[in-house]
Amino acid sequence: MLLSSFKQVLEVALYVLLPRTCYACRRDLPLGAAGPLCQDCQAAVQHIGLRYCVSCGKPLPDGGAHCARCRREKKRSRKCALLRSAVVFGPQVRAVVHAFKYADQSYLASCLAQCMAQYWTAYPELARGQLLVPVPLHSRKLKARGYNQSELLARSLGKQLHLPVNTSCLVRVRNTPSQTTFGREGRLQNMLGAFAVTEPQLIKGKTLVLIDDVATTGATLEGCAAALRAAGAKEVMAYTLAREI
Ligand SMILES: [Zn+2]
Ligand SMILES: [Zn+2]
Repeated sequence: MLLSSFKQVLEVALYVLLPRTCYACRRDLPLGAAGPLCQDCQAAVQHIGLRYCVSCGKPLPDGGAHCARCRREKKRSRKCALLRSAVVFGPQVRAVVHAFKYADQSYLASCLAQCMAQYWTAYPELARGQLLVPVPLHSRKLKARGYNQSELLARSLGKQLHLPVNTSCLVRVRNTPSQTTFGREGRLQNMLGAFAVTEPQLIKGKTLVLIDDVATTGATLEGCAAALRAAGAKEVMAYTLAREI
């Protein structure tokens, strides 16, 4: 009792000295605000909605089963069976993801994974997943950043969904150049052979869900899925916090 009132006093004092601000608009957050965004910014976050491409998960406001690109590429054999995301990568989500990569990692990991857990159930196909596998960073990048943001998300999400997480079976063997200058085809080529599986016995015959923070073209996820399928995974799906559209 005494301890909890002491904690409350401490919280108020901390709030007066250092009020938390919204990660997107920088306005002060009210005392006791749970998330990283103010109410207005939170309301501006777009969810994927009920209509989306069954392959790549892209929102399809006009309906239909596949987006134009997936229709064109239907014949290509995909290693990543499907991609789903919790929210659209808009300016508010971008601000939080940026902070997540450079500050406040553990607090934001649990907030962002909570958002992922909330929308996980909107996609019944994900229920087939038996094991979460975060997209790995190359060891050099991991050393520079100090942590892998996808791993933090996967660990927190796994805890919330009661699903096991494996952070060691998939590794990035090639430190690929920045992908921002490539088109989708170039990105796909760039990602082939960039990943390897170190412990195939841990994934053999299993349905896996790759976890990442943001999906852009899906090329990184396809590279991961190619390595996992070649090592014996039964099926590979992917789930990301945000989707660039
Ligand atoms: Zn705000
Ligand atoms: Zn699509």
